[in-house]
Amino acid sequence: MTNPQSFKVAIVGAGPSGFYAAEELLNYGVQVDMYEKLPVPFGLVRYGVAPDHQKLKLVSKVFERTAQRDGFQFIGNTEIGANLPLSALQEHYDAVVLCHGASQGRKPGIPGDNLSGCYTAADFIGWYNGHPDFQHLAPDLSCRSVAIIGHGNVSIDVARILAKTPAELSTSDITDRALQALSHSRIEEIHLIGRRGPAQAKFTTQELRELGELYDADVVIDRGALEIDEVSRAELDDRKNLIAIKNFEIFTNFNNKTSRSCGRKIIFHFLESPVRVLGETIVEGLELGVNRLEGQPFHQTARAIGERRVLACEAVLFSIGYLGQGLYGIDFDGNSSTYPHNEGKVTTASNVYAAGWIKRGPTGIIGTNKPCAQETVATLLRDLEYAQKVPKAGHAAIIRMITQRATSYADWRCIDKQEIEEGERRGKPREKFTSVAEYLALLSENEVGGE
Ligand code: NAP
Repeated sequence: MTNPQSFKVAIVGAGPSGFYAAEELLNYGVQVDMYEKLPVPFGLVRYGVAPDHQKLKLVSKVFERTAQRDGFQFIGNTEIGANLPLSALQEHYDAVVLCHGASQGRKPGIPGDNLSGCYTAADFIGWYNGHPDFQHLAPDLSCRSVAIIGHGNVSIDVARILAKTPAELSTSDITDRALQALSHSRIEEIHLIGRRGPAQAKFTTQELRELGELYDADVVIDRGALEIDEVSRAELDDRKNLIAIKNFEIFTNFNNKTSRSCGRKIIFHFLESPVRVLGETIVEGLELGVNRLEGQPFHQTARAIGERRVLACEAVLFSIGYLGQGLYGIDFDGNSSTYPHNEGKVTTASNVYAAGWIKRGPTGIIGTNKPCAQETVATLLRDLEYAQKVPKAGHAAIIRMITQRATSYADWRCIDKQEIEEGERRGKPREKFTSVAEYLALLSENEVGGE
């Protein structure tokens, strides 16, 4: 049997699935080089998790411990496919694990969904979380009414950020620029629109409950919306359907609360699908189609009944899932937005594996990535055990091909320190840098070298 300690593995992507895969590989003594497009690590934890959910971000402490382990190296500001071909990693490592996630927000493909005032939740979240790729967005928040399409945790995150007061957000790590824009927001109505009913909403209970705890926002649900059909009732009668049962209770309690006349209202819509965004160049409204549910318990789908209504709104945020992009040269399934694989081994590329959203699709909480990455690593180690061992140079060979300023984990620690210090001055956990140029300028000022 080959000793795993002589293996070198490259991981592409420094988000949760990348770090869980790294931890697992390091446990077997494998050397791990983690390549990341951005100069900084942590992906979804830094740029996806809501800035007011600091407890969820604590998982990065676990990843920090992984990064300090012997045999681990971070190589940031290095995009595979742009700065380096994947084939270089395939050649110089025993295996490559693709953990680059699915970062593009889906749009429904309806007329008007590209009008000014339409955003994907993914872009909007990237904007307020300081992701360098989304700072150009500068969303216009001077409108009165916003529609958010989708009933998942991402839509709730966006609704909550739009509904919170500046004081509620001031202790989060939302960027200062986003906080300023949100402070001047004139939004009064936030419509959360789901194509199915309250028994099928995909929110987790804690996230839904939190909407009822906001300082200056009231939750509004039409009483009739909670009169569900028999099949949905059967779903809620199944005690295993715990999250939906709890969610339904919360919806009912929202409904029982007397209105507090808050400055903002979060208005739930059920059984409605977006059909067309109205307007010539900017959003002037949203045409919605009314649905009924069809199918067996837990398999009900939304069917249009042919009835339409118009919602007055000046911005539309699509929160209907994410799309991934395959790296050049590897078969990619555009429908599921994943690499075809067997237990993590990408079926059509030699010594390439996948973990996280790009392996199983854009679902699951951060912790879901741990067993997903462990399965991939188990497959990888099994394959390497039987492979003919040819010594690989790993990063020593790659470094000659890198022409841009790559970043190290020591660089990240320098950036992290600066962000935290700037945050302390402002009474928040950190103030993020929001452009690659800012990161590199800071590093060049501090002349931090490699690990
Ligand atoms: P999601 O949970 O899958 O929700 C997507 C929503 O979009 C669903 O309501 C879905 O309706 C709807 N939808 C899809 N296509 C549509 C269309 N063409 N027209 C209208 N509606 C459509 O996805 P997500 O909110 O993007 O979240 C992704 C994952 O990250 C989830 O697993 C989520 O739990 C997780 N997450 C967790 C947290 C947290 O733990 N705090 C925070 C954020 C995200 P149907 O149900 O009818 O398909």
